[in-house]
Amino acid sequence: MKEYQVVELLGDGIGPELAEASRALFDAMPFKINWEPIDFTVEGRKDQSVYDRAVSAIENAGFAMKYPTATVAESPNQVMRKRLDLSVIHRPVATIPGVRTNFTKKIDLDIVRVATGGTYSDPGRQIGDHAAVALRIIESGPCRFAAHFAFNLATKLDKTVTSSSKYTIQRFTDGFFESICDEVDRAFPKIALQRELFDALLAKLIMKPDNYQIVLVLNEYGDFLSDMACGLVGSLGLGASGNYSFNKDYTARLAMFDAAHGTAPDIAGKGMANPVAIFLAGELMMIQMGEVEAAKATRATIFELLEAGTCTGDLGGSLNTKEFTEEVVRGVKARLGNG
Ligand code: ATP
Repeated sequence: MKEYQVVELLGDGIGPELAEASRALFDAMPFKINWEPIDFTVEGRKDQSVYDRAVSAIENAGFAMKYPTATVAESPNQVMRKRLDLSVIHRPVATIPGVRTNFTKKIDLDIVRVATGGTYSDPGRQIGDHAAVALRIIESGPCRFAAHFAFNLATKLDKTVTSSSKYTIQRFTDGFFESICDEVDRAFPKIALQRELFDALLAKLIMKPDNYQIVLVLNEYGDFLSDMACGLVGSLGLGASGNYSFNKDYTARLAMFDAAHGTAPDIAGKGMANPVAIFLAGELMMIQMGEVEAAKATRATIFELLEAGTCTGDLGGSLNTKEFTEEVVRGVKARLGNG
């Protein structure tokens, strides 16, 4: 049986319940995870050397599953992104059965975002009383990493790639990004690259969401697009993301996965936590491990259960965390034929 080392960054609030659910899901897989837990709770982070231990453990294992953590002084996500040089974020956003939304069409998008630079790296400055400027920084390294990640994902999942920016206006910065997308496209002859101006993409995504699968964007565009897409599917909280750092040959070096929602202190310890987002984070980790069948089985099982109304209370169902997890485990095992 194949084995993987995964660091567990254990968090606050509903974190422990999610960690338990996540372990149960991975126990159902035809591969083994050797978990390496690290206490990332507020209490655990009082000793700041926990960050050094986490960094060295993840450097060693290559994979980390991060549970929600309360932000007191510093944001653990931000610290880890910086310390591990996680320069690309993969944020899938899909229509979730059973979640009410104003948007009537279905969307299934993988947003691949350069997570550094753009205008977000420069706080800007005031010039006199009537002007202010900020520097927009586009670097080839993270753009190449993101593009390779997007094309590799397209190869694994048999999807198309669309790059998007305002290259006709921001010719130097966005133009530079698009030229790198073209260069990487040439290294993947089987995957066609579509290109859209970012403003047009927003409109077209709403009118013809079927035309888009993997969307490759710079930092700010990725930020806006992620929230807009979450609005379309009616939930900011049911998604997950993967954060990656890379080797010089553009292969992923380290990956950290987490759920989009927070620690939900109001329901902590009550068995009410919905583990869907953390399961979808697990799905992303499986894709990264190359366990694509397991990833597909996880996603298909979850979506089928939600569609049938088999879900936790927050989505209108009657199951607690454990009961829903058991349903997912049963479904995944049946799909993978290892039940
Ligand atoms: P934080 O400060 O960690 O961001 P928060 O409560 O402000 O925590 P969320 O954790 O995102 O923000 O929660 C917002 C609301 O959604 C809360 O009422 C919470 O109970 C609910 N919620 C969030 N995640 C889940 C989940 N996995 N299952 C069920 N309800 C959830």
